[in-house]
Amino acid sequence: MKFTSTRDNRVHLNGFQAMLQGISRDGGLFVPQEIPYIDKMEDLIALDYQELAFEIVRLYLDDFDDDKLRGAIEAAYGGGFGEDIVKLRKLGEVWFLELFHGPTLAFKDLALALLPRLLKEALKEEAPGKKLLILTATSGDTGKAALESFKDQEDILILVFYPRDGVSEIQRKQMVSQEGKNLKILAIEGDFDDAQAAVKELLEDEGFLNDLLKRGLIVSSANSINIGRLIPQIVYYFFAYFQLIKNKDLVLGDRVNFVVPSGNFGNILAAYYAKSMGLPVKKLICASNENRVLTDFFSTRTYDKRRKLIKSSSPSMDILVSSNLERLVYHLAKEETSLVKEKMEDLARKGHYSFEGANFDDFYADYTSQEEVEEVIGKLFNEMGYAIDPHTAVGYGVYEKYKKKTGDNTPSIILATASPFKFAKTMAQALGISILSRDEYELLKELSSLIGLEIPSSIKSLREKIELHKGLISPERVKKEVEGFIKEQENV
Ligand SMILES: *Cc1c(COP(=O)(O)O)cnc(C)c1O
Repeated sequence: MKFTSTRDNRVHLNGFQAMLQGISRDGGLFVPQEIPYIDKMEDLIALDYQELAFEIVRLYLDDFDDDKLRGAIEAAYGGGFGEDIVKLRKLGEVWFLELFHGPTLAFKDLALALLPRLLKEALKEEAPGKKLLILTATSGDTGKAALESFKDQEDILILVFYPRDGVSEIQRKQMVSQEGKNLKILAIEGDFDDAQAAVKELLEDEGFLNDLLKRGLIVSSANSINIGRLIPQIVYYFFAYFQLIKNKDLVLGDRVNFVVPSGNFGNILAAYYAKSMGLPVKKLICASNENRVLTDFFSTRTYDKRRKLIKSSSPSMDILVSSNLERLVYHLAKEETSLVKEKMEDLARKGHYSFEGANFDDFYADYTSQEEVEEVIGKLFNEMGYAIDPHTAVGYGVYEKYKKKTGDNTPSIILATASPFKFAKTMAQALGISILSRDEYELLKELSSLIGLEIPSSIKSLREKIELHKGLISPERVKKEVEGFIKEQENV
């Protein structure tokens, strides 16, 4: 399996190289040259999560030694996750795929638990003796998940940038209390898009990268621009489908819809890969919050970032530049890289591009407003006793609109992307808990007794944790801070 760039099809890298580099020097993202197709799906149905992950990941990372890949997967999903790595829960006519039973309580754990182990192997194969510097921009959940899995890993340094006012209190505290010798977390005066742009810029900065290479450092990213993030995410789409077959809710070949709360378009892109690999999917339903660039893109065929970012109650989706959409454009443009390059340059220069002529039939897109999010949470809890977080509620809200508009009865699976405990304030508001004069930690207790679930221990202990990372910088300072961090680490 080789990977190429969305902006230049002369690029050919193996999986190790693509993961280590993170982003192509031409600014494009790495994509598999050919999406593998699974002919004998019936052989996979009975596998447990790790076995299935092995079968899927190795189709993409075929340079990996089988035993090493197996070992990496076992270790990644061994500790830190509940006994069921992901849970499928039926409520009324839909299923929720709970992806938040990992160490940091959001779906990002599924990919980030594995990524450092993949990268370490890549480092050994491609650049023995070198160290890896991981730069990460986060809209709230990636940061903590990356820190948790990269902390104190030998030969890896990690730096995380989060938007100062763009994450929930629990998400912030999870990050700034992170212990570990090889890491640093900085708040940025700006939003996620600023943070992501700064990181991408450094990953394309030839002079900077060469300078660091001379000092023994390779720079990569833990964001979903890294293909190593996306591949592990394909697994749970298959796993959920097979679960329905095992439960006799479906027979092999029946189609399902997936509803995916989307921001950077990584999670739903993994679903698109799953569909392209042969998974019987009818619609990929892309759910946005009020930052509805993706909804508009699918309905008008114009991507237009020229609008103000709205700070919503689903902060991990407060994004105007959905990076992974570039990969979809590449596939839908029949791999014509010059066309992708032109569109992405338009986006950078003019703030918009249009994409006529492509076939969007695999997708359906809509959005849920903040007001609707609270209604959805309240209604589902009152009717079914099930509490969903604001991101998942964006998904469920869009599902209801889809159903009403189309009457489609295809079994639908909604991705539950985070634990409701990460967003105590919004949950309290939606469920009628008074938020007056209470801090987030008191709200957690009330939330816990109302919804009848224990506060996850990693969140319970947060209140007492010391804030170790207090830095706040402007986006222009990112490069300087990276250099400063490297110096600090060289002196340890
Ligand atoms: C990151 C995130 C999303 C959005 O996923 P993308 O892959 O960026 O589209 C949705 N919900 C939660 C809770 C997240 O952390």
